[in-house]
Amino acid sequence: MSFTLAIVGRPNVGKSTLFNRLVGKRLALVDDQPGVTRDLREGAARLGDLRFVVIDSAGLEMAEDDSLQGRMRRLTERAVDEADICLFVIDARAGVTAADEYFADILRKRARHVIVAANKAEGRAGEAGALEAYALGLGEPLRISAEHGEGMDDLYRVLVPLS
Ligand code: GDP
Ligand code: MG
Repeated sequence: MSFTLAIVGRPNVGKSTLFNRLVGKRLALVDDQPGVTRDLREGAARLGDLRFVVIDSAGLEMAEDDSLQGRMRRLTERAVDEADICLFVIDARAGVTAADEYFADILRKRARHVIVAANKAEGRAGEAGALEAYALGLGEPLRISAEHGEGMDDLYRVLVPLS
């Protein structure tokens, strides 16, 4: 059986980088500017022998522009509702921010399955951030590096029983 995985989280944590790694094509826009991807993008993902649909969602912008924030929140909620599993990405180097906490709340109320991924954790970076992510109460965070492809074996192992 196949499933749909939504990659969710605030801007600039590496959602699109992970989407691109899973899909293997540069379908989603990656940029140094926070929040560049403002739409939902769907791709056919491969991870080991798993085949699934992955959604790159817009993050939740804690901006003063209410209409933009509202739009991004609605997009994110749509991604959550379409997904069987949500991969909640935080930036392990930045640690857990207020935006992450707010977003974790939405996921607690709305998502069926949540996997927390502490990204940008290549090498030994982000160990403290991963511990902070544990305190979100959404399960044990995976330490991954979307950019360097680290932690993909752990992601595979948690997805297999849910697939
Ligand atoms: P999004 O806004 O959540 O979709 O984030 P992006 O995928 O656009 O990435 C935002 C920035 O973080 C870009 O400069 C990426 O190169 C960088 N980035 C993404 N993944 C990693 C990672 O695993 N390690 C490091 N060091 N940087 C990363
Ligand atoms: Mg993006």
